[in-house]
Amino acid sequence: MAITVLPVRDRLGVRPGRLFINGAWTDIGDARYDQIHPSTNEIVTDFAEAGKAGVDAAVAAARRAFDDGPWSRMAARERKRILQPIVEAIYAAQEEIAHLQTLDNGIPISFSVGSRVSGRVAGDIFDHYAGWIDKVTGETFPQYTDTTNLHYMTFREPVGVVAAITPWNGPVMTFAMKVAPALACGNSVVLKPSELAGLAIQKLADILAQSELPPGVFNLVTGGPVTGEALSTHPGVDKVSFTGSPMVGEKIMSTAGGNMKRLTLELGGKSAALVFPDTRDVRTAARNLMGLCSTFLSGQVCSTPTRALVHRSIVDEFVHHASEQVRDVKFGDPFDPATTSTPIISKRQLDRVLGYIDIGRKEGARLLFGGDRPGGELAIGNWVNAALFVDVDNRMRVAREEIFGPVLCVIPFDEEAEAIRIANDSEYGLSGGIYTADLTRAFRVAKAMRTGSIGINGYSVMPNSPAGGIKRSGFGREGGWATIEEYTELKTVMLNLDA
Ligand code: NAD
Repeated sequence: MAITVLPVRDRLGVRPGRLFINGAWTDIGDARYDQIHPSTNEIVTDFAEAGKAGVDAAVAAARRAFDDGPWSRMAARERKRILQPIVEAIYAAQEEIAHLQTLDNGIPISFSVGSRVSGRVAGDIFDHYAGWIDKVTGETFPQYTDTTNLHYMTFREPVGVVAAITPWNGPVMTFAMKVAPALACGNSVVLKPSELAGLAIQKLADILAQSELPPGVFNLVTGGPVTGEALSTHPGVDKVSFTGSPMVGEKIMSTAGGNMKRLTLELGGKSAALVFPDTRDVRTAARNLMGLCSTFLSGQVCSTPTRALVHRSIVDEFVHHASEQVRDVKFGDPFDPATTSTPIISKRQLDRVLGYIDIGRKEGARLLFGGDRPGGELAIGNWVNAALFVDVDNRMRVAREEIFGPVLCVIPFDEEAEAIRIANDSEYGLSGGIYTADLTRAFRVAKAMRTGSIGINGYSVMPNSPAGGIKRSGFGREGGWATIEEYTELKTVMLNLDA
């Protein structure tokens, strides 16, 4: 039977998307756009393009809420009392959120329920930041000279109106990573999700709508680049927190700054994982790296190490285990717990991925397997069989540009220093990996790699530890205290006891 996601959509009672502005669900503007499911290319529902009018209304509401209070000035205990039930409501709705996320972007339901992009993790992130509220402290300073009686202290105050713009691939997690800390610090938020994946966020917004958050503190606008640009350039916005492609990130950096907006930019990557001959288990390294490109979001994750730098002596063994891994990949109905892989999000991105596979071949990389499309009933979806390129030179485009699809490039190396040089020879610096049993080596290499975060013998992110990029992967950190700093301004107060 042909795959269809429409029965799940109907069972979940999905309705056309709406905007949430100043404490009320609303529709502004006549323009609407369809959200299409990547496994079947069925239209799931439609959303309002908020455009300039919607953004103006949402920013005005957020501005009023921030400038007039009470949220921005609320005592810590009260703000915490309002955020804590939101945490519980997200946990209670985690199954529904997971199903909506799978309906959004085709991520297999087992990952949407049980991985680091799950509804449960969104609850964990809100829980983590609710816990910070009464710990957002400043400092006091020792008296600098005894000729005066001046005393200095700092306070951390909310930045103001935050524009949060999120991508399609982890809509639930990226929503939480921005909204939870921004609210915890007392800011007002206008969030714009990706136009490719807005359903789970309608549910999360509904949870906030039903909370005791004052009107205007959280607002949701939907739409594509036009709405995103209206929001990121709006003079009523104090900070833009953006997660998405480097191209859009660079555009925001050049257009958002009129009023000195603060920026957090979480952008793309072309991360390297170094597999040394002393790794305890080449099989695990190969399966992890190939698995990140072939299962889960099929390489459509910013932090995926898509360059496998493998010591020449173990390339054959690595490739053997990588080939074995792809045999376990299962395409199909994203709501079938046995499905393990996500289709490419859109037809446009599908063409782009297939284009890169052609480019790799023409550049002289050897395509060992994959890169083609499955037929039969899967032909209706945007599936691509995971591709493994070997004999890749780091100067090739497939090794330098973010493909954002199921493509792993194996680059051989002979010496540790050479591997570090190749890893660092990239305009990106988001994440990375090191596979070795020698922890002295691991530490040395981790320190030498120019990247925002790095995993030794595996990689994952947690709500309480920071992640983010350097170079073209952006700046700012999400996770833990580092994010509190992103959503607060430091104010220094001087007390003159001579007066
Ligand atoms: P994208 O840049 O196409 O879109 C991201 C968001 O920006 C969407 O909401 C989109 O509507 C909006 N947008 C588009 N044009 C805009 C404009 N001119 N002004 C303002 N907003 C605009 O990215 P995507 O395809 O949704 O996501 C994939 C990209 O995101 C990849 O590059 C990936 O590496 C990156 N990503 C990074 C992280 C991270 O934490 N570093 C996490 C997830 C994804």
